[in-house]
Amino acid sequence: MVSEAMVAGVELGGTKSIAVVGRGRDIIDRFRVPTTTPAETLGVLSDKLAEWRREHRLAAIGIASFGPIAVAEGHMLPTPKPHWAGADIVGPLGQGFDRVAFHTDVTGAALGEGRYGAATGLSDFLYVTVGTGVGMGIIAGGRPVTGMMHPEAGHIRVRRRSDDGFVGACPFHGDCLEGLVSGPAIAARAGKPAHLLTAEDPAWRDVADALGEAFATLFLTLSPARIIVGGGVGLGQPQLLPMVRERVVAALGGYLGFVDAQSIDERIVPAGLGEEAGPLGTLVMAEDLLGDA
Ligand code: ADP
Ligand code: ZN
Repeated sequence: MVSEAMVAGVELGGTKSIAVVGRGRDIIDRFRVPTTTPAETLGVLSDKLAEWRREHRLAAIGIASFGPIAVAEGHMLPTPKPHWAGADIVGPLGQGFDRVAFHTDVTGAALGEGRYGAATGLSDFLYVTVGTGVGMGIIAGGRPVTGMMHPEAGHIRVRRRSDDGFVGACPFHGDCLEGLVSGPAIAARAGKPAHLLTAEDPAWRDVADALGEAFATLFLTLSPARIIVGGGVGLGQPQLLPMVRERVVAALGGYLGFVDAQSIDERIVPAGLGEEAGPLGTLVMAEDLLGDA
């Protein structure tokens, strides 16, 4: 039996990928596969999507992928992940759908948080994941910022304390934001995995300083109403966000009236949907295409 219009979504992750089908906030079926090679992973996912298309009338699909990606062209850009450089994503996954939305995984999560999570009702906000890497999804005027490819604000440089000599862990930039605050960067600095550090470990002050400097720059640049923080590091350390907020207020020096000691708790908030932000975001991406029709 063919049911009322629903949409599909795929979140392609560096280690696992998830396909979902649903309507609004209701995910009625989901399917997980390990991310191996494009031929294998995209093949299995498109078989599943074809099966769902036989069961439901699927009006559109939203695809959110690890990057870097060429958003407008629908494929992977050069990436160190074996086999994936240049891989066509929208071709195999969008096949059979009238409308296809494609963006980064963090943009998908941002859109999920914007519809159902910590940024509900806002049109200008950022979603920042601090985990194995640092990724940012930027929503401006209700739409994801794409630009030439997509923002890569995880790699911006931040002002550092002069007494901090850590060289950083980014293979491209050393001490860019990701090179200072990603899980592997924290582990390199501290000499043990980030999740094993106590809340009092001095490494957290360095992490908070770097994130605080970056967020101050982002408030000044993009004027977001809120910055939402997710990821294993971002959500795994409850002491971290209060330290980041303090640093942001200090770095701004009272210049921005809308980001001050009174408002900072609602300007920088933890993600609200956890692991569901990505899958729900892919459905939001798909449904937004229908609104445009
Ligand atoms: P990914 O970025 O790969 O999607 P995560 O967001 O879960 O996945 O990030 C994984 C990173 O987060 C790892 O480097 C891990 O050490 C770190 N991490 C996980 N849990 C915690 C925690 N409670 N505290 C600090 N770091 C953590
Ligand atoms: Zn970098």
